[in-house]
Amino acid sequence: MALALLRDGFKERSITQRTAVPGGTLYRLAIDHGITAPHGTVEGHRCHEAADTEPCDECSLADGRDQARKRARHRRSGSPAAAAGAARAPGSPWRTPRR
Ligand SMILES: [Zn+2]
Repeated sequence: MALALLRDGFKERSITQRTAVPGGTLYRLAIDHGITAPHGTVEGHRCHEAADTEPCDECSLADGRDQARKRARHRRSGSPAAAAGAARAPGSPWRTPRR
């Protein structure tokens, strides 16, 4: 089930949500069964990693894009504007109720 989703190009996150199979296990299972995610996706890159093979160009590109996106998100969260947004996040320490 999880492997079929992976093969069909679903995102790791949505597969985990649907099947409760964590990412690491998912890729190990995929390798065991000779299944890989479509190339040119982050999931495809993970399959290369799990299989210990050299990522192909498409997969490196997809992974590089994903890393850049994550870094950009990280940078934004450090800006004052994002800090204001973080104030609304639940569990923020300096936002205790009843004060
Ligand atoms: Zn690939």
